[in-house]
Amino acid sequence: MPTTVNLFEHGQDCRPNSPCAACRANEFLRGRLSEDDYEKFLALMLVYQSQEKESIALDELHLSARTYGCLKTAKVQTVGDIVQFSEGTFLRIPNIGRKSLNEMKEVLGKLGLAFKPE
Ligand SMILES: [Zn+2]
Repeated sequence: MPTTVNLFEHGQDCRPNSPCAACRANEFLRGRLSEDDYEKFLALMLVYQSQEKESIALDELHLSARTYGCLKTAKVQTVGDIVQFSEGTFLRIPNIGRKSLNEMKEVLGKLGLAFKPE
């Protein structure tokens, strides 16, 4: 299976004399696209990556049993469903408390996402 490359994140092994896979991919694209097309391509990739994140299923987030149960009951299925909540509306889910809120903020943070502003 081919490994996927996040074009926006350097690998841990990135050095000026031996660039990581993301740097090499960016260099390759920049050499073959006009500046304008390269910018458009990157913008498209950002949209694509955020859509990918929002399609992550609840089961894949490794939540505590309590948080998972509450969300399941509230028919929350994906990360995309979660980011529809603000912190305030999230706390209105039956049995969700501060602890679950903080847990979820951490999970969203790791994905580079957040709750909606109030
Ligand atoms: Zn790099």
